[in-house]
Amino acid sequence: MSTSLILDRFSVGVGDRFAHQADAQLQAFILAAAHGVEVTPVWNKSNREHSIIGSEPAATRAAADSAVRKASWKRPYFLDADHIRLETVERFLAPCDFFTIDVADTIGQPAPASAVEIFLDRHPELIGSLSLKGIEAPFNTTRTGITQFAGKYLLATQEAGRIYRHIAARKGSGCFITEVSMDETDLPQTPPELLLILVALADEGVPVQTIAPKFTGRFNKGVDYVGDITQFEREFNNDLAVIAHAVSQYGLPTELKLSVHSGSDKFSIYAPIRRALKRFNAGVHLKTAGTTWLEEVIGLAGAGGNGLALAQAIYAEALSHIDELCAPYATVIDIDRDRLPSVNTVAPWTSDQFVAALQHDPNHPSFNSSLRQLVHVGFKVAAKMGPRYLTALKHYEKEVSNTVTNNLFERHLKPLFLD
Ligand SMILES: [Zn+2]
Repeated sequence: MSTSLILDRFSVGVGDRFAHQADAQLQAFILAAAHGVEVTPVWNKSNREHSIIGSEPAATRAAADSAVRKASWKRPYFLDADHIRLETVERFLAPCDFFTIDVADTIGQPAPASAVEIFLDRHPELIGSLSLKGIEAPFNTTRTGITQFAGKYLLATQEAGRIYRHIAARKGSGCFITEVSMDETDLPQTPPELLLILVALADEGVPVQTIAPKFTGRFNKGVDYVGDITQFEREFNNDLAVIAHAVSQYGLPTELKLSVHSGSDKFSIYAPIRRALKRFNAGVHLKTAGTTWLEEVIGLAGAGGNGLALAQAIYAEALSHIDELCAPYATVIDIDRDRLPSVNTVAPWTSDQFVAALQHDPNHPSFNSSLRQLVHVGFKVAAKMGPRYLTALKHYEKEVSNTVTNNLFERHLKPLFLD
């Protein structure tokens, strides 16, 4: 399967809820290039985020294009229609050149027995002992096991095929990057399950360049990884071996790589990821999204005066609408409500106090991960403030840009690709 539009080895997804930080975000990629590593920026904003804010994908495109023009960025960049489905893809078709096809909802819907039979007859090689380059112990699978996997994933891969063909009919095949995501499910996919998914996607003719499985452990929004890091590292390595195998045996694009969703702030797994990429000479796509909005609030709080007052107002509003704000993100946050300070507690906070509570420095005694996660999902509050929020972003542009660029470069690009 060849594709004319190619995603380079390293790429990072950046979200920009209010389309004001594209310049500051691009600056981080410029810094990475100056330090010797080329990372492709991909601006991503999901249908969910557009719906909550009331924005359109075309605005994200305009902001990205403008940043690229202003900075004379000559390397590739993309705009990702993040987590789209057949019924939500329409408004993304014109502005986007990267589509994350979300089939999480179809996973587990049983495929017809006849389809499973056809798949098994076609792929007897998936049953038995499978030795992959780079993995010490072979995978051992049984016909029953593969039948179960196929029953669980076949319909989802067929759905991915249907959405892919819909996009290709409109944009032309080879004119966009295809990602398939299944991260927003209850259970992680094991490496043998990932292999079956890739084989089925190859059968469907989907030229998948990035695949987002659900990894073991918790990837909560805006905070560090929670889980067994050794197990994560082993599975990540196994996944890379599976991908290399799928590319060589099933004709998937040679660029195929893993996509790590909710990838911002996962400081404790960046070193394991780096080691694995080196070992397999592999690439990665890492999506960060809400982290930029959090840096906006940190920038405002750090500026003091009206900026700090606005950050406090955002927190107060978020606290009073906590149920509504958390509902769409229930599976990807862990907020301990007892740890959320009251509005009266926060009111006298200085800039330093507010920033210390919100900024993701796990070793700082004042860091409050519950407060951070609440603000993470609280961008709707700022959207409702409308001009008041956007005017402040303009007024404190320097402070906000600095925190956005620094966070992306120092805490993400550097540990992942440079140190
Ligand atoms: Zn995702």
